[in-house]
Amino acid sequence: MDFPVMEGMMKGMMGGGAEDPPTVTLYEMDFDVSAGIERANVLRDYVEEEHKVHFANKCIIKEGTWIKYDRGGGKSKPHMFLTASDLLMTELTTISRKIKFRQVFKLVDVRVKLEGAKMLVETPIKTFRVETSSQSETLQWHHELTEAIGKARASANLAANYESTLAFSPVWVEDTPECNDCNRSFSMIVRRHHCRNCGKCVCGSCCFEKVRMEDVDGGKKLQKVCNACAMTYKEKRGNANTGGGYGAAAVF
Ligand SMILES: [Zn+2]
Ligand SMILES: [Zn+2]
Repeated sequence: MDFPVMEGMMKGMMGGGAEDPPTVTLYEMDFDVSAGIERANVLRDYVEEEHKVHFANKCIIKEGTWIKYDRGGGKSKPHMFLTASDLLMTELTTISRKIKFRQVFKLVDVRVKLEGAKMLVETPIKTFRVETSSQSETLQWHHELTEAIGKARASANLAANYESTLAFSPVWVEDTPECNDCNRSFSMIVRRHHCRNCGKCVCGSCCFEKVRMEDVDGGKKLQKVCNACAMTYKEKRGNANTGGGYGAAAVF
């Protein structure tokens, strides 16, 4: 079995000036790459046990390689993606028998849209654009994901307007040569950061505050935000004593 992910990772490591991955590793397990057909079962059992989730129809729907565009068109990297009956698991990497998913999204909270040859994948945690090796494959992914999302919502008995109640994460703007706020040029010293709230590409001085974002990871980890967004979060925090759920509260 071939894992193009490794190549992408090597390029990422050697690229220099690359930003730290923004998210935590949710799943990690020992995994025998040569296991072939057993792979889906191993993954499913592991995720069910580790995260107390239950796959309604006990199968992995689809697996494939997408090219991801969340950090600017020039820096796309291949990633393995998996969908299960009620989860979308992304950025699977395999390094010497260790398997890692960078992100896992609840399918009920995902929205997919076709944008030409690319597909926009929106979630409350992260929003990104992807494409596959061919336009027809991307169309197929879009079709199957839409169907899987619909099924997941139906089996969870969610209201018809459920999607409109979700606060989707902004798409990161493409990497720019200068900071979007103070216009300093980026270099090995002046590093790029993306605000986790508005997606703007800014320098360290314009993005030094961190807030807990309930809508990103339940507020578990501090997330980098730009100064304007930090102000907004502080105001929100001042105005509300209680909060929770998507897009609601931030705790410093
Ligand atoms: Zn700046
Ligand atoms: Zn911001």
